[in-house]
Amino acid sequence: MTTDNNQTKTDGSEKIIAEVKHQRELREKTYRERALKLFPHVCAKCSREFTGKKLRELTVHHRDHDHDNNPPDGSNWELLCIYCHDNEHSRNLDAQWYGPEGPGVDQGPSLTHNPFASLGALLKNKK
Ligand SMILES: [Zn+2]
Ligand SMILES: [Zn+2]
Repeated sequence: MTTDNNQTKTDGSEKIIAEVKHQRELREKTYRERALKLFPHVCAKCSREFTGKKLRELTVHHRDHDHDNNPPDGSNWELLCIYCHDNEHSRNLDAQWYGPEGPGVDQGPSLTHNPFASLGALLKNKK
């Protein structure tokens, strides 16, 4: 028999963190299993099929990035392989970085700042 009750931990915060992590893992496992039942085991991006042990590489992506938004019809889920999932998130990080227009809109800071504005002011001063 093991008695680890008298193990005095700091303040129990470690336990709480572990518990939160456990809850999250549990929830992720649940919605992953639900998503795997709903969708074919194919990556939505690269169309690779995942079977057997490979299935571990297929993950659930949340379209709106809200992991708490898990509608039963799976409308917020997308099955992505770990590689495409990674891409998806780095792309969204980029989008955040670039703003809602995205990197496709060629509008650097040099365009918003008009170099001729100061030139015009200079010319006006000369007149
Ligand atoms: Zn993929
Ligand atoms: Zn995701």
